[in-house]
Amino acid sequence: MRISWISVFSISSNNFKNSFYNVFHVVNMARRVVRAVSSLLDLYEIDSSYTRFDQKYEMFARSSWDQSLPLNKSVDNILETIDNKIREGASGFTIKDYALMQGAWAITTASEFETGNMGLLSWKPLSFKRNPSSVQLFQMWKSKNNDSNLQKLHGTPDEMSFILKRAAKTYGANLVGICELDHKWVYSHHWVRPDNVHKKIVFRNVAEPDETDEEFIIPSDVKHAVVMAIEMDIELLHNSPTPLCEATTGLGYSKMVFLSASLAEFIRGLGYTAIPCANDTALSIPLAVSSGLGQLGRSGLLITPEFGPAVRICKVLTNMPLQKDKPVEFGVTQFCQNCRRCAESCPTEAISFGERTKEATTISNNAGVLKWPINPEKCLASWRKNGFSCSNCIAVCPFNKINGYKSLATEDGDPEQWWT
Ligand code: SF4
Ligand code: SF4
Repeated sequence: MRISWISVFSISSNNFKNSFYNVFHVVNMARRVVRAVSSLLDLYEIDSSYTRFDQKYEMFARSSWDQSLPLNKSVDNILETIDNKIREGASGFTIKDYALMQGAWAITTASEFETGNMGLLSWKPLSFKRNPSSVQLFQMWKSKNNDSNLQKLHGTPDEMSFILKRAAKTYGANLVGICELDHKWVYSHHWVRPDNVHKKIVFRNVAEPDETDEEFIIPSDVKHAVVMAIEMDIELLHNSPTPLCEATTGLGYSKMVFLSASLAEFIRGLGYTAIPCANDTALSIPLAVSSGLGQLGRSGLLITPEFGPAVRICKVLTNMPLQKDKPVEFGVTQFCQNCRRCAESCPTEAISFGERTKEATTISNNAGVLKWPINPEKCLASWRKNGFSCSNCIAVCPFNKINGYKSLATEDGDPEQWWT
């Protein structure tokens, strides 16, 4: 689907509502001022009784053990739907759309990533396993060299942050921010699939991160999170919900794995500890907000000034001396009070139309943080029913860089046009 700025401003009778949002968006963009706030508490109201979230209750983990979930449409039914759609040549559901989706997930598929310390997201250095000779020679030099001044790069937090961000951008990050690693955002436990093992995440005075039969151990000197956002393809998003749209989700996940693994190896090469994470180990959105990448929206997604909610987030936890960034405020909470566009576009009413609350609506919400709660059970149920993910709430958000107007989420569009 091709987008022009002329169409952003066009108002036709059958597209009036979207055009209203577009004009609203442009006005909002013009007056939007991104300002730094002194602490996360200026953006998040958090109860003192808040406790660390257990990954066991995250929806994908729950779908492996919680028999009470209304998730299960039988695989046979989904296969029948896929068969019908591909035979019909339904737009957005052709074999080339499914193939684009398959290719986009390739790196993720090849590297288990749901739980920490797996595949490319290993908590141990990757370079010792199999290296090109250049990296091997660097490692051999390191292991022979005893001069601690040479083994490690030293610098001020500002200098170290500068080179870290330069490397992250080189590996493909569109946005990078740094925050202190607040333990409240680290999962209390990992849920390790496919064996469904429940392991505590603890902080200890140890030299290296480790995993035992009972625990994941993070060294106590790991005090920073480097949080990175990867832009999603807005044109693919506008074809939500289809397998064609899911290609941008899969690509986001594959880039998350690539990016966090690459930055972790870079940090290890500098002589510091690095724990690469996709969605695992800690809650990405509060860390992203703390790092100044954006604010939390009604949709439960991170809204960035640069790309709206059309981003995927990954992070690396490290003991490098770094300069933390400040959270930013650019009017998201006030805008979301009146907008509700994501809630209107949700096929399962998983997004709240009401006010923010600290109450949990399901066991998959972490209570004690003032926010619009989403209902992840309803959301995932719709994904399972379709056999692919949905991105309606991302596609329609007026904070997107190129604002959504003709989207399958709200209008009749033609995904086949994406290929032209
Ligand atoms: S992804 Fe789709 S189903 Fe889930 S909350 Fe967003 S709009 Fe609703
Ligand atoms: S669609 Fe509207 S209400 Fe939803 S997150 Fe975006 S700005 Fe907020």
